[in-house]
Amino acid sequence: MRRIMAGLLSVILMAASGVFAEEAAAPAQPAAGKSIAVVAVGPVDSALMDRVLAFAKENTGFKFRVAPALESSGDTLDAVAAEAGKALAADDAALVVLANPAADIKPHGAFFPEQRVAVVNLKSLKPAADDAEVYGRRVEREVMQSIGMLLGAPSCPNPQCAMWQYTTDEELDSKGRNYCPPCMGVIQKAAEGKGVGMEPTAAAPL
Ligand SMILES: [Zn+2]
Repeated sequence: MRRIMAGLLSVILMAASGVFAEEAAAPAQPAAGKSIAVVAVGPVDSALMDRVLAFAKENTGFKFRVAPALESSGDTLDAVAAEAGKALAADDAALVVLANPAADIKPHGAFFPEQRVAVVNLKSLKPAADDAEVYGRRVEREVMQSIGMLLGAPSCPNPQCAMWQYTTDEELDSKGRNYCPPCMGVIQKAAEGKGVGMEPTAAAPL
């Protein structure tokens, strides 16, 4: 509803200022505000990157920026984060790293609040049975949780929420992929506070 009201208001303002025709004809401008940057480190399947990015965009509405992919480097997630952190641009609020390191690193991810970087370890998330859907959902959960953490949201007691802390692979595969309503509220407010831009969604009415 708020989105609808804002949309209506902007139409009224544009019409009142007499620029409606020009505005309507102009190509879409990039959304204002900072981005959540995403970077692939090491060989990352483009279909996986695309689905995860689409999921995050659809469920947060935030502005995302895909930074140029980097070579895999480092034998630890700390080293990956340090290298990938160079991809952070001035207009990025935070960086999510989709890493496929050469080394076998056990943790599914790591969070570096000082650097505003979260690393998702694709290699360790790959299920034993090579199931692309299970894999894609795992990465979506990790990316959503990473974004929440980067924006300062705490973990959540609700297993249906992406901010819930799992301990086993079974729990990872059964937890929610999106934020529960209270976490969504916290995360949206935090994003606003950090100046993260919002993308108009295709589904939103004018
Ligand atoms: Zn929650």
